[in-house]
Order: sequence, then structure tokens, then C-alpha cells
Amino acid sequence: MSDQLSERINNLVPSATLEMAAKARELRASGKDIIGLSLGEPDFNTPDYIKDAAIQAVKDGYNSYTPVDGYVELKDAIITKFKRDNGLNYERAQIVVSTGAKQALYNVAQACLNQGDEVILPCPYWVSYSDIVKLSDGVPIEVKTSIDNNFKMTPEQLEAAITPKTKMLWYSSPCNPSGSIYSKEELRGLADVLKKYPKIIVVSDEIYEHINYGVTTHASMAAFEDMYDRTVTINGVAKAFAMTGWRIGYIGAPSYIARACNKLQGQVTSGANCIAQRAVITALLESPSRVQYMVDEFKNRRKLILELLNNIDGFKCNEPEGAFYVYPDVTAFFGKTFNGKTINNASDFAMYLLEEANVATVTGDAFGNGNSIRISYAASEEHIREAISRISDSVE
Ligand code: PMP
Ligand code: GLU
Repeated sequence: MSDQLSERINNLVPSATLEMAAKARELRASGKDIIGLSLGEPDFNTPDYIKDAAIQAVKDGYNSYTPVDGYVELKDAIITKFKRDNGLNYERAQIVVSTGAKQALYNVAQACLNQGDEVILPCPYWVSYSDIVKLSDGVPIEVKTSIDNNFKMTPEQLEAAITPKTKMLWYSSPCNPSGSIYSKEELRGLADVLKKYPKIIVVSDEIYEHINYGVTTHASMAAFEDMYDRTVTINGVAKAFAMTGWRIGYIGAPSYIARACNKLQGQVTSGANCIAQRAVITALLESPSRVQYMVDEFKNRRKLILELLNNIDGFKCNEPEGAFYVYPDVTAFFGKTFNGKTINNASDFAMYLLEEANVATVTGDAFGNGNSIRISYAASEEHIREAISRISDSVE
């Protein structure tokens, strides 16, 4: 019956991260002892002070439609957060609250892209960027980066990728999946190229901002005066506050883009969930130091997983500066054969690890770089030790 469906949906690739997580869940339900290191989801609970704010909101009778672009009090909390953490000055008309950063990204793509518009994506990029761009009739332009340059795009590479059709540049910093962070100087280098192309809009996805291990200080593209008017800053609470299921993300943007996202959202979702919005006011107004304990724990796990992986021949890791993923190059395993099956690429290797080591990871192909796999270390130390030991045994 797929001929009854739209070409749009038939051409859409399912989210590889969510698909792998579903597969691991299915295998677990059938009795297999699978360790899931595929999904980028903190294994912590949402902090109590945020949960309490949600409970209070229920008791206070928050149950009606909210303003489409978010409660005024939440917008004000977001404005405070942008100023406090990023030195960015936004007004209410520049803020839109959405059902997760994912919807925020989708809104921006729908609002800005016309058929054939090109969007530059430094690889590896977050799994959904490419398909969100395609869903909006845009054309993803992948810029390959190298593990030897910590997976960062250079100004020269950016310049070479720009054509008369370039409409946007999208990146995440800290990066999912590589963990790389563009320093202020590196962002300035990219901004200097963009100076020559004043129409290109930048989407700076900063959802892992607080998950930073202290090697590189977080910087925002919109903090450069000459970039402010054409940068959309994306953020959300899923990662730093362990609130993935609450589904709140937001943008700070030029007001014409914010207005467009508001208009779209008014026809699609009517706005984000009212209780979650109230809870996020508290999450953002409290000091980020209240969630530092999670970052400290991720830092320990990062050290552990890097030590363990670096002991396995064939895994070549860069050192993630933020987020909670490692993105090892696994090309050393390509061409190897097991039980008559040859591992030809990262997808085969991730599948091999799932079947032979009972460990779920994600193929690097999903992030536009087929030399690596992504391993999430948002998992307990015990699970990390056991998973890497199984991986080590399975590749010996
Ligand atoms: N951007 C990046 C880089 C991500 O890793 C994710 C995954 N959660 C998102 C956006 C989407 O976040 P949310 O859960 O708020 O939709
Ligand atoms: N962003 C997380 C990840 O990359 C969650 C999954 C998703 O939103 O696709 O794994």
C-alpha cells in the first residue's frame, strides 16, 4: 500500500538513532541481554526541583492552550538564560518555544527553505538534519571533515562549499555525534567567510551547551555583532536537564524568522505542552550549577570509555570536548569476515556488534560519515564496562 502514501513520506529515511533504540528494545523484549549505547538520552532522572514545578503547575490549573509561541514567563526565562549564559540579547518577539529542539529545527527549515535551496552540513552532523532539510525541499550539502582535525569544518572548506544556491549553514556545537566544540576563534573564522555572503542564514544548535568538559569554552555564533541578524540559535532542555520526554526546545532568532515559525506552529501543534513549559521556567531560571553533577558524571564516563576503547586495536577515537558520544573510526574492521559475512561498512559493523556483542550503537552513515560508529556514554559505568568488554571480545 505504500503507493497510497506520499512520495515525501516514502522518501523519508527513519531516524537511525530512534530506530536502533527500538530494535534494542525489541530484542530485549524477546529475551536478549542487549546493552543500549545507541540513544543520546541521559540516564538520570529529571531533578526534583523541576518536577515539583510541574506538579505545582498541575495543581494551579494550567490546562489550557498556551500562546502558540510559548508562555510569556517562559519566553522571559529564555531571554534571561540567553543573556546569562551566552551574552545574547533577545526580545520576546524573537523567541519561539516548540515541542523539542527537533521541532524548532523543522520549523526553521520549513520557514526558510524553498525548492533546491542548499544547506551546508559539516559532517558528521546530527542524524535528523539531512532529512529535515529534504522534507523542506532543501538540498543537504555535506562537507567532509577529518578525525585528525577533530571533525571541524575549516573556513576554507566552508568557502569551497558555498554556491549561489546556498541558503543556510547548520551545525551543532558541542557536536552530536563527534563531541567537538567550535571555539570562539574558530567560529569567527567561519563568520569571516560568511561576511562575503550576507544572505546565508546560520542555524547554531547549542542543545549540548552545558555538557562541556572544560577543554573549549562554549561560544555562540549570534554573539558576533555581524552575525546576530542572521543566526538562529537553537536550544532545549532535553540533555542538560535530563528532560528528553518533556519535549521542550526553543529558538532565539531574527524576529521575521520567529514570526514565521509561530505562524507554522499555529497550524501544526498550537504550541508546546503547558505543564512542561511551566517546569522549564524553573529549569532555566535556576543556576546551571544545579545540574553540574550530571556533567561531572558524564566526564568520568568519558574518561572511562576512551580508556577502554583505546585499548582495543582498530578503534581510533577523537577526544570529545562536549556532549556524551564517542565517534570512533572503525575502518580497520572493514573487509573482515565473520561466519561467512563480510563487514563492508559502518552499518555492517554496528549490526555485527548488535548481533555478536549484544551492544546497540549507531552507524556513522546516519551522521554523514561512514567511517565511524557512534557510541553514547549516557549510560551507567557498569553498562559501559560490560559493553566495551563485550565489544572487545567480539572483535578479537
Ligand atoms: N539537536 C541535537 C544535536 C540533538 O542531539 C537532539 C537530540 N535530542 C536534538 C537537536 C533534538 O532535541 P529534542 O529532544 O529537544 O527534540
Ligand atoms: N538526539 C538523540 C540522539 O541523537 C535522541 C534521538 C533523537 O532525537 O533522534 O540519539
